[in-house]
Amino acid sequence: MSRIWVLGAGQLGQMLKHAGMPLDLEVCPVDIESEETFPLQLHEQVTAEREQWPDTAATRQLAAHPGFVNLNTFPILADRFTQKSLIDKLELATAPWRLVEADTTAEGLHQALGERVLLKRRTGGYDGRGQHWLREPGRDAIPDDWHTQAIAEQAIDFDEEVSIVGMRGDDGQCHFYPLTLNLHVNGILLGSVSPLARLSHLQAEAEGMLGKLMNDLDYVGVMAMECFRVGDHLLINELAPRVHNSGHWTQAGASVSQFEAHLRAVAGLPLVKPRVKNLSVMVNLVGTERDNGWLAVDGAELYWYGKEVRPGRKVGHINFCLDSQAETRSALDRLEPLLPANYGPVLDWLRSQLD
Ligand code: ATP
Ligand code: MG
Ligand code: MG
Repeated sequence: MSRIWVLGAGQLGQMLKHAGMPLDLEVCPVDIESEETFPLQLHEQVTAEREQWPDTAATRQLAAHPGFVNLNTFPILADRFTQKSLIDKLELATAPWRLVEADTTAEGLHQALGERVLLKRRTGGYDGRGQHWLREPGRDAIPDDWHTQAIAEQAIDFDEEVSIVGMRGDDGQCHFYPLTLNLHVNGILLGSVSPLARLSHLQAEAEGMLGKLMNDLDYVGVMAMECFRVGDHLLINELAPRVHNSGHWTQAGASVSQFEAHLRAVAGLPLVKPRVKNLSVMVNLVGTERDNGWLAVDGAELYWYGKEVRPGRKVGHINFCLDSQAETRSALDRLEPLLPANYGPVLDWLRSQLD
């Protein structure tokens, strides 16, 4: 049996572990706060479920291991400044941006980027945390401690948000899942749908963009690219060098899930273009108590992360990949009364994507 160590023991690490079982890959997620040392062997691989980590005994040990796959990619993508610089270097479309330097002013940013400007902390932000809007000239200021610590982006008036999850083997071969349509509310992903025929004309563009990035980084494994769709084109929002929430539907809807694909790549096992079954829908469970009634909804595939429930915290998700869109619609109808009221618009949005 080969063993793969994962830096991070959140839900992504747990789902990697779950995906390793049928292949007899022993996946060992490691808590980043741990001060233990672990019995890593020279021939084993190390991967990560997050792009950034604190300096602890555990992370020092894993990051120093020669089998840490993509080690050099993490610092580039963990800092929005170097991530955006890479996207620009490869001449890929992204929201126009500036580094917020020591002497940068809000007026200067409005002049360069327009009326609405979104500041994003260079590191550490997720689920829309670490963002600050400059809503109109003369109104909002740059917070003091954001100078040199943030980038500023032009507000994009996008039609919708999509993402693509791709994989690359150590022989350079890339494969991709179909584009996923995502609904983010206040910066948090609440629902995804894939594949959608109406997005298929954007697939080649998305694959070209993510493929170029993975090749430039000589990346091995699964990478996700979040995009804004503006008319018939995509602008890159951000990249994640790991399995991604918007790819969770692949657990139900693809012959090889994103988790298995990542493990295969890291372990040097064959990669294939995953076969996609029917349309899949994913509902993210955010800040809500577990309800075993979800399990009684025909077709629901629940992943409950076993974390303490806190407002705004991702605590689970439910996948559906049913034979027909009519069945998906009735499953969502059955789920609706079992979710908090704020899910009403999310379920409406998901149903509106169905035929
Ligand atoms: P994640 O949890 O996906 O890692 P994050 O906190 O890293 O999120 P982003 O993905 O950069 O942050 O932004 C979160 C959301 O904010 C986006 O999904 C989008 O809805 C909105 N957003 C981000 N950038 C812009 C922009 N330039 N213009 C308009 N909306 C934006
Ligand atoms: Mg992010
Ligand atoms: Mg994001």
